[in-house]
Amino acid sequence: MAKRKKIKEILASEEQGYETTVMGWVRSFRNNQFVALNDGSCLSTFQLVIDFENAEQAELKRITTGAALKASGEVIESQGRGQKYEMKVNNFEILGDSDAEKYPLQPKRHTLEYLREIAHLRFRTNTFGAVFRIRHHLAYGIHKFFNDKGYVYIHSPIITGSDAEGAGEMFHVTAMDLNEIPRQEDGSIDYKKDFFSKETNLTVSGQLEAELGALALSEVYTFGPTFRAENSNTTRHLAEFWMIEPEVAFNDLDDNMDLAEEMLKFLIQHALDNCMEDLEFLQQRLENEEKQKPQNERSPMPLIEKLRFVLDNEFVRLTYTEAIEILKKSKPNKKGKFQFPIEDWGADLQSEHERYLVEKHFKKPVILTDYPKEIKAFYMRQNDDGKTVGAMDVLFPGIGEIIGGSQREERLDKLTQRMEEMHIPAHEMDWFLDTRRFGTVPHAGFGLGFERLVLFVTGMANIRDVIPFPRYPGNAEF
Ligand code: ATP
Ligand code: MN
Repeated sequence: MAKRKKIKEILASEEQGYETTVMGWVRSFRNNQFVALNDGSCLSTFQLVIDFENAEQAELKRITTGAALKASGEVIESQGRGQKYEMKVNNFEILGDSDAEKYPLQPKRHTLEYLREIAHLRFRTNTFGAVFRIRHHLAYGIHKFFNDKGYVYIHSPIITGSDAEGAGEMFHVTAMDLNEIPRQEDGSIDYKKDFFSKETNLTVSGQLEAELGALALSEVYTFGPTFRAENSNTTRHLAEFWMIEPEVAFNDLDDNMDLAEEMLKFLIQHALDNCMEDLEFLQQRLENEEKQKPQNERSPMPLIEKLRFVLDNEFVRLTYTEAIEILKKSKPNKKGKFQFPIEDWGADLQSEHERYLVEKHFKKPVILTDYPKEIKAFYMRQNDDGKTVGAMDVLFPGIGEIIGGSQREERLDKLTQRMEEMHIPAHEMDWFLDTRRFGTVPHAGFGLGFERLVLFVTGMANIRDVIPFPRYPGNAEF
């Protein structure tokens, strides 16, 4: 059964005039003769030419859009235009019928919203085939990048007993019967009777565990699912998303920025090297999509040019304080165009501000550093000014924040003092503080939201369209 040649191999090869077998799904069937077959190995379909005069009518009728087909024959130079090779079919077999009337994917354009409702079938479209092949290559590229540098891949836990991280709202994990929740005398939930004998959640980040690894293995990274129950119905947030979190001993903030920039450029180059056919398709798709939009809402560059632009330019690095000065004096701020006007130092930056800096002011990726400590997490390293911490956010055009990271506070006294100020129970974090008690070193790391990277590289507009089965408020289908 498995003896088949992939369409990608056939089309890439210089060979012809040989017999082989292909299997895939019918995209279209024209003139009772020409099948466009796709097997997912690449975007292109392969043309099968059926000898319809000698085929059984009943069998020909079963070649419908969506049907699964096995065909054997000779690969020859194509007689028609539009493809290099085609197959002169000797015999074919329907592996799985598809009722053309009922098949939800008709050979026409469907909206992305409609395709999201049939996410189980959208893999079979050109757009989602391209998106998920690129997603695969980027995932592989991440492992390649870190492996080649000698990093150790750490699997951080998905169910966590630590709730002090504070990166976002958490999903509770329980095996309790919700109709009969065990309670203590004061009415509070008795987690001692739950599966883990304590309160547990789905992880929001693997960072703290990665830090434990880094303080022994020097250079580690995580790449796993993370969960946030934040009710943000945006095109940039999912309730379940994948995060890459490198953590490196002996790195300071500058090293951290260098690593982030190098990694992002490597991944974009990796996509250009491995996914050109899919990128060209998505570039064309984006162009068609944006034709209906007014000029000022269109992307400033075609997709592939945008990717090359990021490769060819150094990211702008500036401090939060410098950014606030720019934003204060900016046109949209003076004209009251920002939903959240920038008045004072200390304001949290919203995505409208991030995008102004990246898309309008610098027109380049930007790394912002040294944020006010009040708006950042407890574990970030305190600067000597007493006001800011060694944080860094990487901001990308069209996306906003793609990476958030920092140099970590390695000094025990400073760390515990900050935890106290932020009401983080130190006794629950003893395991974390032990790294600062025994052989602490400067270290730094960051989190890259995988879907935001895929969004950037594919040029898709909604994060729900770059993960196979998106989870967001009100939706956990499939
Ligand atoms: P944002 O401000 O965009 O909500 P954040 O500051 O909460 O993000 P971090 O906690 O710094 O994000 O997480 C690190 C990275 O994870 C972010 O830079 C982003 O790329 C990604 N990320 C965060 N939240 C989400 C989400 N809900 N869905 C998808 N990716 C996310
Ligand atoms: Mn962040």
